[in-house]
Amino acid sequence: MSDELNDLYQQVIIDHSRHPRNFRKIEGDHREARGNNPLCGDKIIVYLQMENDIVKDVSFMGDGCAISLASASMMTEALKGKTKADVEKLFGQVHDMVAKGTPALDELGKLGALAGVNKFPMRVKCAILAWHAVSAAVKGDAEIVSTETEEGQKLS
Ligand code: ZN
Repeated sequence: MSDELNDLYQQVIIDHSRHPRNFRKIEGDHREARGNNPLCGDKIIVYLQMENDIVKDVSFMGDGCAISLASASMMTEALKGKTKADVEKLFGQVHDMVAKGTPALDELGKLGALAGVNKFPMRVKCAILAWHAVSAAVKGDAEIVSTETEEGQKLS
């Protein structure tokens, strides 16, 4: 990755962590899932409104490190209007990029900014947290997902 691109990606992450998008609750009919990452102290709640198979609205609230907030913020922007299957597909692509170091795909757009997280193993769970939560919400599964469990379903 070029230095220029690296700087640009860092700016995207800083911007989203300081000014999270869709940082609000969803009123009315919705699902929600909590994500806890005790290793870092990240705690977020993802709110999801589905219309049939389509994400009508998605938002989040919570507190955590810059990476966890930026990832959640970018995720909410990326998922609106997507189908259930798209959500799972994107989750898989982001997971591979962040956890396994798979190169960022063009179709990921801004989410590619999270690729650099792969170099910081301690931050991988921060970046994936919101995605685990939204995946649980889409499936209508666990209400609490935790990277370390006890409080919820164990994540990898
Ligand atoms: Zn974190």
